[in-house]
Amino acid sequence: MAEKVLEGQVALVTGGSSGIGAAVSKALGAAGAKVVVNYSRSVKGAQEVVEEIKAGGGEAIPVQADVSQEDQVLAMFQQTYDAYETIDILVNNAGLQKDSSFVDMTLEQWNKVIGVNLTGQFLCAREAVKEFIRRGVVPERSIAAGKIICMSSVHEIIPWAGHCNYAASKGGVMLLMKSMAQELAPYKIRINSIGPGAIKTPINRPAWETPEAEQELLKLIPYKRVGEPEDIGKAAVWLASDRSDYVQGVTLFVDGGMTLYPEFASGG
Ligand code: NAD
Repeated sequence: MAEKVLEGQVALVTGGSSGIGAAVSKALGAAGAKVVVNYSRSVKGAQEVVEEIKAGGGEAIPVQADVSQEDQVLAMFQQTYDAYETIDILVNNAGLQKDSSFVDMTLEQWNKVIGVNLTGQFLCAREAVKEFIRRGVVPERSIAAGKIICMSSVHEIIPWAGHCNYAASKGGVMLLMKSMAQELAPYKIRINSIGPGAIKTPINRPAWETPEAEQELLKLIPYKRVGEPEDIGKAAVWLASDRSDYVQGVTLFVDGGMTLYPEFASGG
């Protein structure tokens, strides 16, 4: 059984109905957190995650909201407080891709990705921070007044042709996260990112679903395995817990070495 390092804490995971968000929700729930599983469209997916957390003896509820819409974000936080009174952990996970060559990229594709991946993180973080500052530290639950984990990507530092909107959004998340971490550390609010490499989820299915595609992908991964959502869940529990107290404003890359310039392994 998982150690209950998050016992009594309330966690909100955006985009929690699938992929990395579902795994993070389950891992936080298994570590003792009450989990608000946000979804935008898939109530079924969110309910499955909630049921699995409850089956393991935990507590969870699904809450619908489009994180790029301010009124919906405010309503989601109100529903969180109605159910669990406060929030201790925010995982800003919701994200999407709208891929296009740069020259053909529409303003709609650009705005959609920036709206969800970057503005969505700003809106949710702002609401969580308001509550962290209002409530302050509750020593029985955590040394910190609150923790935010931003789901970034290796593409906060690796440029990505054909995905300029996505790479720009994750580069933006990096400096949003670091600037918030610098500004809010005096309030004992810890803010960090996870930078996943290639993880098997619906967002990148074509990159791993055939053996040929997976072989191509493995050329970019020195550790020679494609990541699983649970790899990110474990990292999220650690970053949310007091075990990582004093870790502030960093991106933890969970990527099998993808950010290590793998093409230089054989010369360069
Ligand atoms: P996914 O498509 O399974 O998950 C994305 C989630 O975000 C979905 O549940 C989706 O419904 C939700 N979402 C999309 N728009 C939303 C909105 N407007 N409001 C609320 N929720 C919304 O893919 P995933 O791989 O699990 O992605 C999760 C996060 O991890 C994303 O931020 C993604 O950029 C990041 N990431 C994934 C990988 C990977 O290899 N899978 C790598 C690096 C970063």
